[in-house]
Amino acid sequence: MVDAKDFFDVGLAFHGHKCPAMPLGLRAAAAAMNTLGVERARDKELHVISETGKGHAAGCFLDGIMTATGCTYGKSNIEKLYYNKMAFTLVDVAGKKAVRVSLKPGFFARMLQSPFVEERKKGVLPQDIPAAIADPLVEKVMTMPEEMFLDIGPLQDYVLERKPGVFAAAPCSRCGEMVFVDKLVESESGPICLGCRQQEA
Ligand SMILES: [Zn+2]
Ligand SMILES: [Zn+2]
Repeated sequence: MVDAKDFFDVGLAFHGHKCPAMPLGLRAAAAAMNTLGVERARDKELHVISETGKGHAAGCFLDGIMTATGCTYGKSNIEKLYYNKMAFTLVDVAGKKAVRVSLKPGFFARMLQSPFVEERKKGVLPQDIPAAIADPLVEKVMTMPEEMFLDIGPLQDYVLERKPGVFAAAPCSRCGEMVFVDKLVESESGPICLGCRQQEA
């Protein structure tokens, strides 16, 4: 069984500040991993499809999910759908199974009324919110029963289509920088990178 607490310290160091949303991601990820019966991904054994977006409250949720699942942008086993919803699907690639986990609507609505979010609305940076406000909320998130805040979907069959990795790179004929060949595009002066093509447009 995966325990979200085991990932708290690394999650905090990675995320950068103490807030309730990153730990919510740890808990939701642990619930998804336990439903699938999987461990943290060392390579691309797992894949996350997150429905969160950018520029909305509680986006920190995804850093908790990345920390616990090992699905990271560096490994490219994560994608965002930008639905601006507090939900994600975790795929067990070899097992060809997936589960969708979301925050319960009532819980999330109440969370948006929390003193932490009130401070954020006033413009206080998350790292400047007093521990007297942040700590009890984080403690609550890390200890409350899953059924109080998570909707955990059924196990679904899921086949993830994945292209083989690209190992070949060649220089752009304009800037000279190395580019993985699948993103070199033809131009009158030879193959160029997308950055140079952007400048030409
Ligand atoms: Zn945060
Ligand atoms: Zn170039």
